[in-house]
Amino acid sequence: MSAVQPVSGSSQSATSQAYDSRAYDVVVVGAGFAGMYMLHRLRGLRMTARVFEQGDGVGGTWYWNRYPGARCDVESMQYSYSFSDELQQEWDWSERYAPQPEILKYANHVADRFNLRPDIQFHTRVESAVFDETANRWSVTTSDGKAVTAKFVVLATGCLSNARMPDIKGLAGFKGQVYHTGNWPHAPVDFTGLRVGVIGTGSSAIQSVPVIAEQATHLTVFQRTANFSIPARNAPLSADERERFRKNYPEIRRFAREEARNGIYTELPDRGALDDGDNERRSKYEARWQRGGLTFMSVYNNLALDKAANDTAADFVRAKIAQIVKDPDTARLLQPNSHPIGTKRICIDTDYFATFNRPNVTLVDIKSNPIEEILPHGLRAGGKDYEIDALVLATGFDAMTGSVAKIEIHGRNGQTLNQKWAEGPKTYLGLMSAGFPNLFIITGPGSPSVLSNMIVSIEQHVDWIADCVAYMRAHGFEAMEAEREAEDKWVAHVNEVAATTLYPQANSWYMGANIPGKPRIFMPYIGGVGPYRQICNDVAAEGYEGFAMISAEQPRKMVAS
Ligand code: FAD
Ligand code: NAP
Repeated sequence: MSAVQPVSGSSQSATSQAYDSRAYDVVVVGAGFAGMYMLHRLRGLRMTARVFEQGDGVGGTWYWNRYPGARCDVESMQYSYSFSDELQQEWDWSERYAPQPEILKYANHVADRFNLRPDIQFHTRVESAVFDETANRWSVTTSDGKAVTAKFVVLATGCLSNARMPDIKGLAGFKGQVYHTGNWPHAPVDFTGLRVGVIGTGSSAIQSVPVIAEQATHLTVFQRTANFSIPARNAPLSADERERFRKNYPEIRRFAREEARNGIYTELPDRGALDDGDNERRSKYEARWQRGGLTFMSVYNNLALDKAANDTAADFVRAKIAQIVKDPDTARLLQPNSHPIGTKRICIDTDYFATFNRPNVTLVDIKSNPIEEILPHGLRAGGKDYEIDALVLATGFDAMTGSVAKIEIHGRNGQTLNQKWAEGPKTYLGLMSAGFPNLFIITGPGSPSVLSNMIVSIEQHVDWIADCVAYMRAHGFEAMEAEREAEDKWVAHVNEVAATTLYPQANSWYMGANIPGKPRIFMPYIGGVGPYRQICNDVAAEGYEGFAMISAEQPRKMVAS
């Protein structure tokens, strides 16, 4: 196999200040949207900060996921920072859902506009972080063999940043190019004249398949589990549409933060799916289908709670698939039946189902006919050989905990975070884990995170962390730590709320179900971004209730076991 690696050596690393081994107030790991905004806030507090980023540029998700068709699934006028009104007023999004290159350009624009690069060290992985209980400081080692210390470490490592290579026999012996959607090369990939195989049918495949199909001689899609997808109805954004958002940004952003469950501005449903008769319900689904996008799922208020209600939406989408896909057997295979709609992040597509009407596209059901092995020039599944020149792995991520787990993090008493999380991640508010003082996580497990418009959740966490470290400085606190009791209660609450929904019924990456051996726990907090924000604000207003604050003179309030 010759797996294509991203091209390195971007000029961005050259613009970063040469970093000397020294002590910082804060080390931030990752320079995606979370790490960039964290740095901006720390600068505002006049704290010294160093950001380490393993890639050669900013943008995180949008730096790595350069596959054909990659674009956001939350509309760009909302999938963008809100912290600077000048920024949101000046940036022109070209389409309803901007393509990956434009989102990456935006990330670079933000880095330049706020002069972030001097404090970011690119091409540098954080390998370990060890807490010194005497000094109340973290010692952080990096892939260039250097070490720095910091009072605080912020993990802005991303929930979907650890691309997962599937363990398939023969993969290493494949003679063609192998691409993972989550680690796509920087140089353009041209599939013209090639027989291409795509493994996986999640969001990344659903976006890339229609584009690859236009280039490839033949495209074979290997599907294990069919997924629900709603048309994006992507289109250029007019100046008027942009202006409407810009004028109303204060209310749109407020609503997304405080009232929307998922951080997206849209109408709030006031009734359940079974409160309407068949015709009324169908016409509401049809209107949302025509409008396109993620808000399909917010037409009713009980689709995530009541299976019978959920079935009405799932049936509607299955019927649409049957209408679009001409071959009835292919249509049947593409109709998801294994999970309630929305319990895996719903996909947003441009012509995904219609792509299977093309003569050069074949769908192979690898649920009934599992992949046996990758051959040097193809793939064998269900006893049949498929000839392939290039292979695209759209096989997803070790989500939410994968990138954190790759860093060796030692907290109190030498305990590692991986040891503590062996049976599933445990956090208080998704922000901190008991036994790991002064270590913050942005959009960590136990927070709404991946169930939301993530920029809304990122900004909320960054602001909370920045306010918290400013409070500690103002009050002379040296260290802060989640109390175990508060953490246990929060973990129980996260699980209780999840159990009232249909989400745990799906074998999703939310549950860790895509990684063999990973504990099955519903990782994000499903209580909604508005209520969650209120809880975090209340905790802060109560003097950071549930967190032990430790000053140089005071003994610790609690002892982690
Ligand atoms: P990331 O963007 O993942 O950045 C984390 C960074 O940390 C990465 O650059 C990584 O290299 C770096 N890093 C990790 N570990 C280390 C280490 N040990 N040392 C140094 N650096 C490290 N969300 C939405 O809300 N709407 C969308 O439309 C949307 N579309 C998406 C499309 C794709 C293809 C994917 C994969 C995800 C999408 N998401 C979307 C989720 C997306 O991940 C978030 O919206 C957001 O970009 C996350 O930002 P982040 O900074 O938290 O993490
Ligand atoms: P994913 O949703 O986890 O999908 C991975 C796919 O690969 C699934 O179909 C899975 O099948 C299949 N797969 C994994 N291992 C396999 C194996 N060994 N053999 C055969 N099939 C295998 O990953 P993703 O598509 O990259 O998306 C992850 C998340 O990123 C999304 O849910 C979304 O949050 C975000 N994202 C968003 C967008 C967007 O629209 N803006 C685009 C891409 C990604 P099973 O389901 O059977 O496991």
